[in-house]
Amino acid sequence: MTRSVSGSGGRLGPYKRIVVKIGSSLLVDRSAGLKSDWLASIADDIAMLAGRGTQVLVVSSGAIALGRSILKRPSGALKLEESQACAACGQIALARAWSEALARHELHAGQILLTLGDTEERRRYLNARATITTLLNLHAIPVINENDTVATTEIRYGDNDRLGARVATMMSADLLILLSDIDGLYTAPPHLDASAEFVSRVPRITPEIEAMAGAAGSELSRGGMVTKIEAGKIATASGTAMVIASGKGLNPVATLDRGGRATWFDPAGNPVTARKKWISGQLGTAGIIHVDAGAVRALMSGKSLLPAGVTRIEGSFTRGDIVVVCDPDGAETARGIVAYDMADATRIAGCKSSRIAEILGYEGRSEMIHRDDLVLHHDRRHSVPARMDKTRMGTESLEEEH
Ligand code: GLU
Repeated sequence: MTRSVSGSGGRLGPYKRIVVKIGSSLLVDRSAGLKSDWLASIADDIAMLAGRGTQVLVVSSGAIALGRSILKRPSGALKLEESQACAACGQIALARAWSEALARHELHAGQILLTLGDTEERRRYLNARATITTLLNLHAIPVINENDTVATTEIRYGDNDRLGARVATMMSADLLILLSDIDGLYTAPPHLDASAEFVSRVPRITPEIEAMAGAAGSELSRGGMVTKIEAGKIATASGTAMVIASGKGLNPVATLDRGGRATWFDPAGNPVTARKKWISGQLGTAGIIHVDAGAVRALMSGKSLLPAGVTRIEGSFTRGDIVVVCDPDGAETARGIVAYDMADATRIAGCKSSRIAEILGYEGRSEMIHRDDLVLHHDRRHSVPARMDKTRMGTESLEEEH
């Protein structure tokens, strides 16, 4: 199949990078197991989006529910180790099902299993983001789930609504679609209150909106409206729009694209801007990268910092730290998240990116600081004098990031 860009599409047309979160109850039937027809239909939808040039990431629940069906466990609450064992059997089957369903459209599925630290700790976050970005660049569809077999209570997201939101913000997606058996937000839980009205748009998540969520949740999945609103807070605060739609029918994403009923949550800002706000807000920096005049011009025109333009390096930093970039006069030009450790950065300083593998013995990033991770000095609202002290950002949360 040749991938063609066939127009901008419908309601989903403006979105270029979309995370689709799929609830367990859509994919798995307690007695019949995997719902293959439904999976085939969502694979059609994903292929439709990919054909338009939209990047799609799937956050798929269903490992525990599918494993439970495979291992024929009776209904009722599972102990942690039982749900982990079910996830072990279920995830392998789930991944295979995704891989086969997408292969019918000549799309490759890439499985990513995350634990909480992969999005909350900066270095692991950078790694996960780089892998997923590479998958997208290779036109593969990342199929993401929590690594339920190793995640215990204190280190788990616990529900895929929030995991979906974390992934969406990590990847600067412009839309998060939450598909489940709920078709959107109501002014009160509709199964408890007959007068509940459907809410089609949420410009901002206020305490009133949170109060509407109640505490619903279905047997197969962990998430209810409460976790969806939590996901909405994470996503919208970072500039990602969110939509809650029913996935019960076949081709739910195509239905949404045609204007199907759903609750849309407006984003609060632009993800890149929000991320850059976080970078520029950092007072402590771990090092200084001195660059030549050509690199300064490249940065000013919105490009990344390549090793070739680096003349000298000071300080002591590891990959993921914030560093200051100084022009030939020693004045701060920018600051950003450095992609290399001090030692490796020093070795490749002044070299062409094509020589990185030869010098370091591994295929590193072409950029010393990627432009998404860089804030120019004149863009910073409060100019903060460069102060070099070692800051370890390993335990900062993403809320602080955006
Ligand atoms: N990660 C869980 C699974 O694959 C699902 C969590 C959820 O339902 O939100 O079974």
